[in-house]
Amino acid sequence: MKYQLLTIDLSNRSHEVEEIPDDIIRKYVGGRGLGAYLLYRFVPPKADPFGEENCLIFTAGPANGTNLFYSSKANVNTKSPLTGIYLFAVSSGILTQQMRRAGYWAIVIKGMAESPTYIDIVNRTVTFKDGKAIWGLETAKAQHAMLDGRDSKKFATVGIGPAGEQRILSAALFSEGSLYRCFGRGGAGAVMGSKNLKGLVVRGDREVKAGKPDQLEALNKKIAQWLKTDFKGWADTWRRYETASDLEKTNALGILPTRNWQTGQFEGWRGIDKSTTPMGWPEKGRACGPYCPTPGCREVVVKKGPYKGARSDFEWETIYAFGSSCGVDKMEPIVAASQICDEAGVDTMTAGMTIGFAMECFEKGLITAKETDGLELRFGDDKAMIAALKKLVVEEGFGKRLAQGTKRLSEEIKGSEDFAMHAKGMELGGYECRGLNGQALQFAIDTRGGCHHGYGLPARTEVFDNTRLDVAGKGEYVKKGAITRMLRDSLIICSFGPLYTDKLMSEVLTSIFSTNFSVEDLREVGERIMCQERLFNMREGFTAKDDTLPGRLLKEPKPDGPTKGALVPLKELKQVFYKAMGYDQATGNPTDALLTRLGIEK
Ligand code: SF4
Repeated sequence: MKYQLLTIDLSNRSHEVEEIPDDIIRKYVGGRGLGAYLLYRFVPPKADPFGEENCLIFTAGPANGTNLFYSSKANVNTKSPLTGIYLFAVSSGILTQQMRRAGYWAIVIKGMAESPTYIDIVNRTVTFKDGKAIWGLETAKAQHAMLDGRDSKKFATVGIGPAGEQRILSAALFSEGSLYRCFGRGGAGAVMGSKNLKGLVVRGDREVKAGKPDQLEALNKKIAQWLKTDFKGWADTWRRYETASDLEKTNALGILPTRNWQTGQFEGWRGIDKSTTPMGWPEKGRACGPYCPTPGCREVVVKKGPYKGARSDFEWETIYAFGSSCGVDKMEPIVAASQICDEAGVDTMTAGMTIGFAMECFEKGLITAKETDGLELRFGDDKAMIAALKKLVVEEGFGKRLAQGTKRLSEEIKGSEDFAMHAKGMELGGYECRGLNGQALQFAIDTRGGCHHGYGLPARTEVFDNTRLDVAGKGEYVKKGAITRMLRDSLIICSFGPLYTDKLMSEVLTSIFSTNFSVEDLREVGERIMCQERLFNMREGFTAKDDTLPGRLLKEPKPDGPTKGALVPLKELKQVFYKAMGYDQATGNPTDALLTRLGIEK
């Protein structure tokens, strides 16, 4: 069997292996695409995200297990408890390398264990282990315990912390132990917790070979050469700072969401920019997994002051959520906040954004210190932010309300709906989009909600090619970027960086499968994955009316920056996107004719 799917049923402690047909791999490639296909088939309509019917589906792609640069990535799919719709999430590390070595392209976990359990998968052997002793442990400690003395470089681990066990709706799944890589958004960790599952360990011993290894090696050499020439500037900066080293530019462009998106410029940007923070930025970088030629992750340790000893490895979205969005202009509390989230196992973006939202409610008098357990939740007050976060991760007092996320909290606070900064229940990524039409459109139509990853990041290009205020052409623009993102997430390779064009990916797949994948073939695959994801939400009853944005972006003119006065022309943007995709204009969903053309079964 070439492409194997391992299904594990926690309810009756059974497992089985079946074959994924060749044509499904050809149509969906692997990773996120394969996960979207399997989720639609395994999880029935209207399933309870915390019910036995929901599944956690881990998928690998063709690049995983080879030595291709940037291939240490993994994907999970499930129905999100935060949004109630389609969820995928990606993480770094060796999970998919070990899955492929064990022979699996996908691991589907369904059912519910009677008592705390973890699963040990070594090649063909699946063992259900008693997880009572590790229930309650933090994310890294739990993974360490599951390894039971085995080598973390050879055994992949995924696990949850106490937040997942408590079913906090934004609980994340963590991998790579104390490197704290995570499938961050949408609550996959809470789904794992609802199954009484603490985590899994995966190990395989087979060699994963490309069909044409020489060609794949030549592509690695080409990438290495590009990093010394055409992409040298990018590579040098990336190795030093990875994301969030350009806040001066971001701030000047007016796209830095500040104080829960009241403005797009933050006077305190210098304190939270990796290259200008007074606390300094460590020299030594590390990779999130094997085969990265531009490792830029860093463990940052606070050396002095009230957060002395705090340590974490974090990126732009965490800086935005606990920094500018909470009006905090210092890096040290962001390090501390990130560590709290990593150890308890929650998504930093949802946690930070929800606290920023609560700060605005407090400053507007919509909630008072009586409801916040005495906390004066004001923008810029890092101590209050950390105190609120500590309550959130254990659901204590006001923390229980914060742990619901922005959408549900807003539903309890009259008059706050217009500045609850989420789309479809997921808090928005860190790009203030009044005057960034592509990014605004992406937040509105993205299948997993207002996320920072799913359809690419138009914000990163449209400010430089002077199309940020365009409406005409934006549908095609967003579609093109989204297709490239679908493909990267399906191979699966790191989506950071500019190297992996559709052409390079077609060469990679041709080398691995020994059969031609043209750029046109791949773009059709990307389009198919977009429709397959959309189909899941369509089955849940989602339509064009759900492709929307918070009132603030539609009704409050932008107060600052080069696009001062701008609002998001959402109706027009949606029209051009639906047209570009061939979706029905009224429902915003794929037509039967489109599904037939792409070979997707309802
Ligand atoms: S660029 Fe960063 S995130 Fe991407 S593979 Fe390298 S270390 Fe990991």
